[in-house]
Amino acid sequence: MKRIFIGIHALILCTISFGQPNPDAQKYAATITQQDLKENLTIIASDAMEGRETGKRGQKMAAAFLAAYFEDLGLKGPVSGSYYQPVPLFSTGASIVTLKVGTTALTTDEFIFLGSGQTVGEMTLPLVFGGKGSEAELEKLDVNGKAVLVLLEANASIMNNPVLTKLREKGAKLIFGAVEKKEEYTRLSGMARRFMGERLGLKKPESGNISGAIVITAETAGKFFNSTADKLKKAAESKKADKVKPTSISYSINQTVSEVRSENILGFLEGTDKKDEVVVITAHYDHIGISARGEGDKINNGADDDGSGTVGVLAIAKAFVQAKKEGKGPRRSILFMTVTGEEKGLLGSEYYSEHPIFPLDKTVVDLNIDMIGRRDPAHKDSAPYVYVIGSDRLSSELHTLSETTNKTYSNLVFDYLYNAEDHPDRIYYRSDHWNFAKKNIPIIFYFDGVHEDYHRPSDEVDKIEFDLLALRTKNVFHTAWEIANRENRLVVDKK
Ligand SMILES: [Zn+2]
Repeated sequence: MKRIFIGIHALILCTISFGQPNPDAQKYAATITQQDLKENLTIIASDAMEGRETGKRGQKMAAAFLAAYFEDLGLKGPVSGSYYQPVPLFSTGASIVTLKVGTTALTTDEFIFLGSGQTVGEMTLPLVFGGKGSEAELEKLDVNGKAVLVLLEANASIMNNPVLTKLREKGAKLIFGAVEKKEEYTRLSGMARRFMGERLGLKKPESGNISGAIVITAETAGKFFNSTADKLKKAAESKKADKVKPTSISYSINQTVSEVRSENILGFLEGTDKKDEVVVITAHYDHIGISARGEGDKINNGADDDGSGTVGVLAIAKAFVQAKKEGKGPRRSILFMTVTGEEKGLLGSEYYSEHPIFPLDKTVVDLNIDMIGRRDPAHKDSAPYVYVIGSDRLSSELHTLSETTNKTYSNLVFDYLYNAEDHPDRIYYRSDHWNFAKKNIPIIFYFDGVHEDYHRPSDEVDKIEFDLLALRTKNVFHTAWEIANRENRLVVDKK
């Protein structure tokens, strides 16, 4: 639809031609085959890749495969000639080595440290009781520079708890959260073992501060104050927390920080007359590695998450390369980027957005694919579908283009459930596109939903529906084709 018509005929022609498929786009979309996708996914999601955990051997092997694939296609390595963009990370692990109330030391199964802090030798702090941490209770209490203990509501979150945050803001140095039920304590300690170990981040942890909280049972809390769980509870309920006599606590922390090397893998296809503008297509190729616990198969293959998106990007790259070879290359350039560190907190894409290889103000869109090979329970018998997220957040044009393109070529059912701004799962913020959206670059996120094998060793290649994977991949290809070849750059008209 490059040609511009003038006058009344233009309107008629435009109306007629609106939604007419472009035969070139169709021809190259047809090079995206189930067989190709399956062949690549069988490699990417094989047990040999060991679950592709960021910084680990499996991720490096996957990276080598992806870089070789881009090289074979004839894409350029845009990072000073290389396909590898190094993403330097820090791995931080911290444990409380000693914890003593008065002279009595706690055993390691009496507390859970859900946080981090830098190595310190033994420190002693006054410990005060903050009841349930209500506004009124804290007003009566000075927690600045002290350790403070509060009783937590049942099933309260630890990482995102407003009471704990408030205590931190008021200057509490060490925070204890006591849970009433033993079962809850057991559940949290299981969770701590699974999630807390080492944490990866882009920044070296800052010195001094202790983040997070130490979880104990209410029974242990009672002993802290030479009292009982019941008495503390009563004091909290009658708003007499300040009447509980303060005590003191000693602790020491051992923190380990090590550098971890990881990498985004980038392949670049130069455009023609609008080559300075870049369309980015992303999928994360890292996954969660090998499970520490469990019976039998412990390798999290991540066939769907996000092997499916990764092989989708490869197939789209191959189709565009073929088009370019035959003189039908895109007008804008396309950056194919398989991203690391997504599972550790969108780290690879954040790093790219802070250290872009192509200027962000010339980056016109990010089409991000994260899980497109399966169905979720809500769509067991539905026609081919995909969840589309974010298309209307920054650019109305992008949303319209995405809808029109789908109707013209793929006719998938677009499910916008997760696009609702108030959806509790907050999917819009949970994959790599978010780091582009944050920089005001329009994005679309393609997703198949959550299924029973999500983040489990059973996310295997044989569960992938390759016909569906091919259809969704073609849809992303067509959308990219339209964006890369249209006359005007997508307009950002929303904030
Ligand atoms: Zn994912």
